[in-house]
Amino acid sequence: MVGVVALRLVADALQDHGALGVPGFVWILGLIFPVVFAGTAFGLVGSLGTALIGVALELPTVLWLPHSRLALWGSWTNLATVVALAIVLGDRYDAILTGAASDARVRARRLEEERFARAFEDNMAAMALISPHGQILRANRAFADLHDVAPAVLVGQPLEQRVTPPDRRALEEARALLVSGARDGVQTTWRIERGAQAPITVEATLTAVRLESTCELVASLRDVTDERRATARLAHAAHHDALTGLANRAVLLERIAHAQATRPAGLALFIVDLDNFKEVNDTLGHQLGDQLLIAVARRLQSVVRRGDLLCRLGGDEFVYLVETARDSASAHRVAERLVAAFRAPFRLGEHALSQRASIGAVHCDDAPGTECDDVLRDADIALYHTKETGKGGCTFFTPALRHDLASRVALSRDLATAITTDALSVAYQPLVAADSLEVVGFEALARLTHPELGSVPPDTFIPLAERSGLITALGEAVRGQVARDASSVAALAASSLIAVNASTKELRAEGFAPTLLRQWREADLTPSRLVLEITESAALDDAPATTRSLRILRDAGVHVAFDDFGTGYSSLAQLKQLRPDLVKIDRSFVAALDTDSSAHDIIESLVGLSHSLGIRVVAEGVESAGQLATVRAAGCDMIQGFYLGPPVAAAELAQTPHIATRPAADI
Ligand code: C2E
Ligand code: CA
Ligand code: CA
Repeated sequence: MVGVVALRLVADALQDHGALGVPGFVWILGLIFPVVFAGTAFGLVGSLGTALIGVALELPTVLWLPHSRLALWGSWTNLATVVALAIVLGDRYDAILTGAASDARVRARRLEEERFARAFEDNMAAMALISPHGQILRANRAFADLHDVAPAVLVGQPLEQRVTPPDRRALEEARALLVSGARDGVQTTWRIERGAQAPITVEATLTAVRLESTCELVASLRDVTDERRATARLAHAAHHDALTGLANRAVLLERIAHAQATRPAGLALFIVDLDNFKEVNDTLGHQLGDQLLIAVARRLQSVVRRGDLLCRLGGDEFVYLVETARDSASAHRVAERLVAAFRAPFRLGEHALSQRASIGAVHCDDAPGTECDDVLRDADIALYHTKETGKGGCTFFTPALRHDLASRVALSRDLATAITTDALSVAYQPLVAADSLEVVGFEALARLTHPELGSVPPDTFIPLAERSGLITALGEAVRGQVARDASSVAALAASSLIAVNASTKELRAEGFAPTLLRQWREADLTPSRLVLEITESAALDDAPATTRSLRILRDAGVHVAFDDFGTGYSSLAQLKQLRPDLVKIDRSFVAALDTDSSAHDIIESLVGLSHSLGIRVVAEGVESAGQLATVRAAGCDMIQGFYLGPPVAAAELAQTPHIATRPAADI
């Protein structure tokens, strides 16, 4: 009996586990019994049982027929066991009969469940089942991977806990919408907190799954971190300068428009433009040029205030926009800070570059005459003025500057026609020998008479022509006229020297020297009567074309004079190296003779040094008898100035007295 009970327990246990139905279990026992107790009644009953159950389970005949041999039927004990089993299993008779069929159904359902479970677990999409209270009920591997933990860790945790604090509110709101039934699905974005690792951004689709009275949520997440980053990068690129990381022109224009619409306390805009930056690029290379721009950006960042806008307009132009410049004094203080930022040199590796900047500023307040409709243009006009007047400072815009610029613009527009018409002419100023005070030569000076602006000084139109590129044509026209005058005007033809001016830009132009020599020869003049006046910096310019031009001209016998000597940066050592034929001491030294006691010594030492190098000296801008006496006493070889004769038109030269006709070399 004990065995029977044990059998039943085993049968129950096995059925509970779904591994084998009771009929299947009994049949297995029946298979074993006849084998073990073959030849006995026990075996007989076993075989009978096996056969019966085999029939009931519809098992293949081969599995039960071998036991049907009557000779092998067992004893009554076996029969008793079968009877006992029948009694025990009595009320499960139906189950025994139908067990096999229900087993198949259970298996099918289980398979189905398994399929769904797999579809959920192995899904590439990160999914989780969330309780109405926000607890994670189930999470698949992809979902857990996004959170960088095992799925089991997440189960039971509130989903909010895994979201960065600023995003929790949005998640809570989405959940409330779904649970309340207001919405069936919500799409939102949040960032997942991942411990020491950087959070990732996910796009979440939350769907309500309503079953009877409960509402669970299915959360499906998509990692959009890279996508967002790329979008952010594009947006950043659209608003920032790639080299310095500063805001760009688009941002500036937006801010200006916004400021003008909202009229802040006071708007001040500064355009900071690096002086001669091109030279850094040309001499030290673009890479160092870029480094310098970055260093300038950092330096400016260190002096600007938070909330104000610093941006790079491109090239070597930066803009600083201040919206809190209440009065002119505070705008000027900002300007001082910006100018001061360029005082210390910029260290780039082994280089220490001193880089200055010119600044154009505009301050908008309610003062009359301040229109502020185009601050960028006005600041540009002011910047132009800073550059014109020597660079390195800051100019604040005034309406007068605009008019000044307007006339310059008109002039540069008309310059091209002026060159080809009578507007351009040449004036000649005598060069006088210091010993005899005879006129030994003339300096040719360009003159321009504008139909509306009247007589325009060369200090205005020469820089304009240089900037517009017209200087080559202008210089050629002037020197062509000089050559013609030198052979046709008696006073000029009789003089030993004719001096012409040329700017650095002209010297750099290919063909400068051959053109000048051709013009001179066409007028039947010897090159040794020609003096070319250039500045020291032009002579120092190491552009190959400049060096070539000077060589060609000197080989042909043309004299080279350093104009405005003493105002440039060249040292006296360079005078030794470059060896011009003449130096023209700048008129500021001569003018200083009246006020500065050291001016006399300076002129004397310049003369001494030049003479020791075989260079002759011209004193410029002599305006009085006193100055004349001093420069003569200092040993100057030639003298030029209003006192001895102002520049006059060729037609008026007939009145020039005492023209010496001695060889140029003797002067
Ligand atoms: P620069 O070569 O130094 O010419 C001398 C300037 O000093 C001339 O001014 C002349 O009128 C002025 N000057 C002469 N004597 C005196 C004096 O006693 N006192 C004072 N205060 N000034 C005196 P200008 O004609 O106005 O020319 C100015 C500058 O324009 C010239 O300075 C020269 O650099 C440039 N320039 C003139 N003509 C040409 C040209 O054909 N080509 C180029 N590239 N530059 C030219
Ligand atoms: Ca000159
Ligand atoms: Ca001069």
